[in-house]
Amino acid sequence: MTDQQLADGAQLLDERAGDAALEAPNYDNDFDVIIVGAGLAGTAAALTLANRGLEPLLIERGTYPGAKNVFGGVLYTPTIRELTDLDSAPLERYIAEKRFSMLSHDDETAVSLKPGAWNREPHNDSYTVLRGDFDRWFAEQAVEAGATLVTETTVTGVVREGGGIVGVQTDRPDGEIRAPYVVLAEGANSLVSEGANLKETESRKNIAVAAKEVLEFPGNDTAIEDRFRLVGDAGVSYHYFGEGAVGEAYGGGFIYTNGDTVSVGVAYSLDDAATKRQSPESTLNLFKSHPAVAPLLRGARTVEYSAKTIPEGGAESMPDLVHDGAVIVGDAAGLVLNNGVHLEGTNMAVESGYYAGSAIAEAAQKGQTGAEALESYPDRLENSFVVQNLERYAWLQERVEEDRELLFEQLPRAIADASTEYFRMDRSPKATHANAAKQRVFDTLGGWTGAMKLALRYRKLVK
Ligand SMILES: Cc1cc2nc3c(=O)[nH]c(=O)nc-3n(C[C@H](O)[C@H](O)[C@H](O)COP(=O)(O)OP(=O)(O)OC[C@H]3O[C@@H](n4cnc5c(N)ncnc54)[C@H](O)[C@@H]3O)c2cc1C
Repeated sequence: MTDQQLADGAQLLDERAGDAALEAPNYDNDFDVIIVGAGLAGTAAALTLANRGLEPLLIERGTYPGAKNVFGGVLYTPTIRELTDLDSAPLERYIAEKRFSMLSHDDETAVSLKPGAWNREPHNDSYTVLRGDFDRWFAEQAVEAGATLVTETTVTGVVREGGGIVGVQTDRPDGEIRAPYVVLAEGANSLVSEGANLKETESRKNIAVAAKEVLEFPGNDTAIEDRFRLVGDAGVSYHYFGEGAVGEAYGGGFIYTNGDTVSVGVAYSLDDAATKRQSPESTLNLFKSHPAVAPLLRGARTVEYSAKTIPEGGAESMPDLVHDGAVIVGDAAGLVLNNGVHLEGTNMAVESGYYAGSAIAEAAQKGQTGAEALESYPDRLENSFVVQNLERYAWLQERVEEDRELLFEQLPRAIADASTEYFRMDRSPKATHANAAKQRVFDTLGGWTGAMKLALRYRKLVK
């Protein structure tokens, strides 16, 4: 972060707030809505509210929006595109290829998807971004629309009156701020919502821990294009699972290409991190040193390391989204889909912020702040892709957990062995190798019956 960039971040403070804001943000009832957290969910809510003529105050604990945000990652932009013009957005690369790899200890079996349509606008609305750049740009759009942003301020609790929420406490001297509505958009580590008893602390079985590095390739300007076979702004998302990716844990690894860096990380069950004593650092190092991964990263230097949690409880562990005077959005509401094939939280965060902002704007027009007046937020979310997608995969995590030894350890090994056998070059006829390869997989699955049972258990994936 350069001094100039930090200065730019500070300039986002609204003139009305001025430097005095950093001393004591005495804004009581100056704003229509207080938003806790300038991540994607909070900023989407701020932008929606400002676009509708309300005055939201966006409070961010980091030195600038995005300073503290961790993700893989691919930003999914269909809703952002509706809210603002993406032309000036700091997008790194569009996703031209998705690749899924099964890793055993030293084997890789991969499937690569490269639909030509992804090379054309709007590129399936999937772009790698660096959150330090993107979140700041997104917050600037909200500020330009009329929102006020205050950074370096942590919300420490909510203010209640007569049971309803009427404001927040911040870590500034005399830092209580009141407004008719509060949007809790504080992300996965939702201490304010939990402290206010608006949601329960999630069981560790429903939380993944993630470690991520951004790597650059000093002295090798074409490393990314050469190694990932890229032209122009095209980029890739590579996803890995199996014991070669995250050891004995339940989870996976990823590589995403940015403009001139790559993002590499692992995400796996917090429960496994605790019981199997697999630290995020050692798990990430294990992944980076896998023979299928290491050559992609050769000669790279780490420029950033971060770690974070991902809520994985899905639809069943969503808290009540509306309360008298307050709503919960984004990761704080558990809105993440992470099932090995999809890792989507950015689109859900933005969608929830948008619906929450719309519901507040409608309630404000009627002068109502009660939970009933805000019900259109959960109603619209329920009928949107957000809850529908979470519900569609609600059964998956538990089932994969049950089958994890088969899916993450035995099958990757069996498929690698079967490939070795099928393509073996010796003087035996091909039929001998084909039969041996088939037998290796069937033995692992428990024959035809086992294969059928497995297909039935996962049939909903293609329904
Ligand atoms: C390793 C990893 C990889 C991921 N990869 C992807 C991916 O590739 N694609 C995808 O779509 N999703 C991905 N996700 C999920 C995605 O990052 C989240 O779903 C999304 O960022 C949620 O947005 P949010 O605004 O709800 O929360 P956040 O982005 O976490 O924002 C919360 C904001 O609130 C601020 N804040 C918190 N507490 C306070 C407080 N008390 N006072 C003031 N400010 C506060 C924080 O500083 C932060 O800016 C990934 C997540 C992780 C951890």
